[in-house]
Amino acid sequence: MNRRIMLKLSGEALSGSKDFGFDEELLLNICNQIKSAKDAGNEICLLVGGGNFLRGRDLKNIDQVKADQIGMLSTVMNGIFVSEMLKSIGIEVDIYSAFACEGIVDIFSKDKAVDSIKKGRVVLFVGGTGHPYFTTDTGVVLRALEMDCTEILFAKSVDGVYDSDPKINPNAKKYDSITFNEILEKNLEVVDKTCIALIANQDITLRLFALNIDNSIKKAINGEKIGTIVTK
Ligand code: UDP
Repeated sequence: MNRRIMLKLSGEALSGSKDFGFDEELLLNICNQIKSAKDAGNEICLLVGGGNFLRGRDLKNIDQVKADQIGMLSTVMNGIFVSEMLKSIGIEVDIYSAFACEGIVDIFSKDKAVDSIKKGRVVLFVGGTGHPYFTTDTGVVLRALEMDCTEILFAKSVDGVYDSDPKINPNAKKYDSITFNEILEKNLEVVDKTCIALIANQDITLRLFALNIDNSIKKAINGEKIGTIVTK
């Protein structure tokens, strides 16, 4: 059976060293790692965040639903950018959005997305879950389950799951492996809890690792021991 991998690219993976917008050099490097994973026979799904433009919770003075809609639209802009970067190195991509963006990207349906995968294309999901009060961490788990992915990869700014925040506590201990329920029980602030609750009883692995390690995406896809592996 082919491995069907879901890779989450958060907004910070797209902006890199910049605070806002796109870091084209970094993205090209990421795209080349995706290409080698695909050339090795893996089926690749991607989901992009929007934090390089806007996270709804950062807008304090407007209705949260509207703020989150702006956040979700940011992910559409990111998806168009990632898709164009992938195409520039010869990778065929189909983008599916959680909500209608007629004339720009197609709306998600499992059948259409599976068909794209079967045709050997990379499938890129935008719009998160399509609903406010969620994040793209939950969107990525939702789409991974819907797409029958065998594993989920989160490329983040920290290199795995720690027992406390390594940016604050220099003695924080990193887990090589942990279960979804332990993350919930220990209240570890690593990804959105909603997505962990959604995945807790599923037979799917999740690997969290640092994007800023050389070839980390390639290493994670090759099953090298980087970051933290999270299972049921
Ligand atoms: N968002 C939302 N529903 C979703 C996914 C995202 O409302 O299902 C909004 C929310 O405002 C969020 C923003 O889109 O802050 C960008 O997504 P996220 O913060 O997950 O991006 P990332 O941190 O991965 O860059």
